[in-house]
Amino acid sequence: MSIAQEEIRKFENGNCAENAVFYQAMEEVIYSIAPLLESDPIYTKLGILDRLIVPDRIIKFKVTWLDDNNNVMVNTGYRVQFNNALGPYKGGLRFHPTVNEGVLKFLGFEQILKNSLTGLPIGGAKGGSDFNPKGKSDFEVMKFCSSFMTELHKYIGARMDVPAGDIGVGAREIGYLYGEYKKITSTYEGVLTGKPFFFGGSLMRPEATGYGAVYFTETMLELENKEPLNGKVCTVSGAGNVALHAIEKLQQIGAMVVSCSDSHGTIYDSRGVDLDLLKEIKLKKRGSLEEYVQMHTEAKYTPVSEYPEGGHAVWEIPCYAAFPCATQNELTEVDAQNLIANGCVSVTEGANMPSTPQAIELLQSHKICFAPAKAANAGGVVVSEFEMSQNASMSKWSFEKVDFKLKETMTMICKRVALTAKDYGVEGNYVDGANIAGFKKVADAMIAEGI
Ligand code: NDP
Repeated sequence: MSIAQEEIRKFENGNCAENAVFYQAMEEVIYSIAPLLESDPIYTKLGILDRLIVPDRIIKFKVTWLDDNNNVMVNTGYRVQFNNALGPYKGGLRFHPTVNEGVLKFLGFEQILKNSLTGLPIGGAKGGSDFNPKGKSDFEVMKFCSSFMTELHKYIGARMDVPAGDIGVGAREIGYLYGEYKKITSTYEGVLTGKPFFFGGSLMRPEATGYGAVYFTETMLELENKEPLNGKVCTVSGAGNVALHAIEKLQQIGAMVVSCSDSHGTIYDSRGVDLDLLKEIKLKKRGSLEEYVQMHTEAKYTPVSEYPEGGHAVWEIPCYAAFPCATQNELTEVDAQNLIANGCVSVTEGANMPSTPQAIELLQSHKICFAPAKAANAGGVVVSEFEMSQNASMSKWSFEKVDFKLKETMTMICKRVALTAKDYGVEGNYVDGANIAGFKKVADAMIAEGI
């Protein structure tokens, strides 16, 4: 029995609850790449899959810090360095109470194939902590970040491992982490991406993932002979970095976005969401979406406690295109049924693995265009790599240049995924196309680099 089969067997026996999302991600890839493994025995002969699903290393460490009342606080920090066959380890840091080794293995594993699809020289990694920045003062977040970096700095470097942001890690956290790294090492190098522009960040990094998901969708709809997004009703979940910038780009191209959500509830505004107000509530005040209906009384707010059984309020709203941009497994089979019943034509994953396997199967069986996360949300890491390039050459690119190159790259990824699916007999299946194309490039590098 191969390691892959053994790992899946363990999962099926329910032995590894913490690893459930990792096995979910791994299983999808294993089934997707079957046509590639069958067409060329070299991958199996050299044990590529068995080697790929085990991280190069997992670094786990204690993070101690003092809160504003001088209480001693203890959290756990992680960095999962998964695979560097194509370039330095690259992937975000997540600060959220749900973070554990399994979640980071899932995200790191996805990141290998996502980074491969970009065609850029970056490997896959992920990290973070069970620290919750919500409700903490700026000073507490700074103290936590300093302590986290005191340990992490030993394992990262501009040519070794370059972390970025993710849930709970935005420009504020990246700034504190970078400040501490500089203090400890006395080096000014592109060791983190997502830095504010005035000290080494790239223009458009905050916008990149959301904008990129929309660029990907535009190309996919064109390739699948569907009507473009202009004038169409779209639903978006989440109200963080990815969601707000997906909404922004959709509005710019003339689509009407009628929803967003956070961990407490969903907004439905049939006249189109007020993005300025959303940014004010979520980015400036770090508040709850409930505040939105105080300003727009015609909008509807549905708290999580009133969501449909097994589903989410946002996917009950009729739409042409849906963009899940919050978190993993937030679009279930029940949600997929609602989307299909309401005539949805495409689903684009802005978040990482937001759709359950059952939801994906159902959507695909109803010929809904389905853009998987590892291809559709690659815009963030694409611009992160642009930031690494700018840091290495001590240069600054204009907004227009970054946007042009982002759009070009997202279009290229979409076409490559579609073509790969066709080549391997699964035309129109962007999940399989992304997994095969992403896996093949890493696998070929691993073969060339030896065991
Ligand atoms: P943020 O922390 O900026 O925002 C996350 C948003 O999702 C928040 O509005 C949060 O609500 C909401 N949310 C979290 N959990 C739930 C839940 N269970 N139900 C409903 N809403 C929820 O994160 P990002 O926007 O950066 O990341 C979102 C997703 O995109 C993640 O899956 C991430 O891994 C992925 N991603 C992010 C990239 C990036 O560049 N930032 C790149 C590629 C992927 P609340 O405000 O209440 O916390």
